[in-house]
Amino acid sequence: GDYQPETIASPTPAATGNQLKDISTNDSGVLYHQLRQKPLNIVGGRGSYLITDDGLEILRRHLRDKRVHDAIMEQLQKIPYAYSLYFTNNAAENLSRILVDSTGGKMSRAFIVSSGTEAVEASVKMAMQYFRELPTPQPQRVKFISRTQSYHGNTLGSLAVGHHIARRAIYESILTKNVHHVSQCYPYRGMKDGESTESYVARLAQELEDKFQSLGPDTVCAFVAETMSGATLGCVPALPGYLKAMKEVCERHGALLILDEVMSGMGRTGTLHAWEQEGVVPDLQTIAKGLGAGYAPIAGLLVNKHVVDTLTRGTGAFAHSQTYQGHPVSCAAAYRVQQIIQEDNLLPNVREMGEYLGCLLHEKLGDNPHVGDIRGRGLFWALEFVQNKSTKESYPPSKKIAWTLHATGLKPEYAISLMPGNGGADGVNGDHICLAPPYNTTKAEIELIVDRASKVIQEVLG
Ligand code: PLP
Repeated sequence: GDYQPETIASPTPAATGNQLKDISTNDSGVLYHQLRQKPLNIVGGRGSYLITDDGLEILRRHLRDKRVHDAIMEQLQKIPYAYSLYFTNNAAENLSRILVDSTGGKMSRAFIVSSGTEAVEASVKMAMQYFRELPTPQPQRVKFISRTQSYHGNTLGSLAVGHHIARRAIYESILTKNVHHVSQCYPYRGMKDGESTESYVARLAQELEDKFQSLGPDTVCAFVAETMSGATLGCVPALPGYLKAMKEVCERHGALLILDEVMSGMGRTGTLHAWEQEGVVPDLQTIAKGLGAGYAPIAGLLVNKHVVDTLTRGTGAFAHSQTYQGHPVSCAAAYRVQQIIQEDNLLPNVREMGEYLGCLLHEKLGDNPHVGDIRGRGLFWALEFVQNKSTKESYPPSKKIAWTLHATGLKPEYAISLMPGNGGADGVNGDHICLAPPYNTTKAEIELIVDRASKVIQEVLG
């Protein structure tokens, strides 16, 4: 809706521009940004739009709902914070209950933290603790296998698990050598000409099997993968049977399966948990972005019953604690977001609008000579750009266009925030933008997104 909290000034440039602009354009600003240039300053919102201090209204991708605002205010009045090491709180307990119930009891505990990165770190630590607390401990399981061109977070542990070449570069020397990588499931580039889905999947499973063998199968702690590859590879759904085949390899060797659903989880791909569409249940599952819909820093680790049982029989607790774990305000926000997803029956909308988005992208951009691949699931779609469609040749590293498309999208005549990615900046493949509209998006909004994205592509690529 068009709800605006009273504490945010009217976003019209006339009313707020000057005062807020003074802050944002002050060249001596001290906030570090990831980009070399200062990003646009967001001062308000209206419906699906973010509003900058220049009054530009940019199509954005977050839910905005008065009910979540009210839940946060209510929690603030009750209790904003209580140290999680000594206390629990109703907001965190309620959220954990709704999350565990949403898995049909397959996952039986939730561990709540503040970011996807922290959830991944927690998953790595819990996997290691699990093997140390089995009735017959297996402390030799210290290795992890994940996938190339993956991203699992930015701290040293999660960076090591992922394979984002550019973000790892400076730190290679202090990243653990106990993480090993196998190929992504990436049909557009990974599948050979004429190869069937079954044989491609079998080939990937064999690669994982070979990796286990070369490492020593009983030294592997877990295989880590995104259920549906997110922004780094560009919205690549797993092929049918892929995750099942990977899980079989893990089971054969007694290793755990960690599914990272930081991006693909909590409804983004059309089911609350992306693994529901894959016929597998993970041992550990990370969740984040859709959990709190951006209202508060929040993420979680959902833990399979058998892991919980092992820890319960072992030391009884997870040997990990953070100051803002289970933060009451974040949990109250996320709990309300999750209730709204159910109350408003948003998942069918994600599926229906997602299909519409996919159809429109194919219709409008399928023939573009530089749009090599259009792929996605639910409300999570990507366009991969190539110099040459028939050879799939990418633009060279210095000419990758995803970021140019992003910058062009922010021009006033387009005003759309396109999510750029480049395969973890491996300098080989990957040059894409992702589109991820809010779960309550409409047909009209999807049409607007595709129209604006097409115009941006037209300007940049002709
Ligand atoms: N895992 C995946 C799959 C992600 O996409 C991300 C962030 O984009 C992370 C982990 C890290 O999450 P955060 O940025 O919340 O720390």
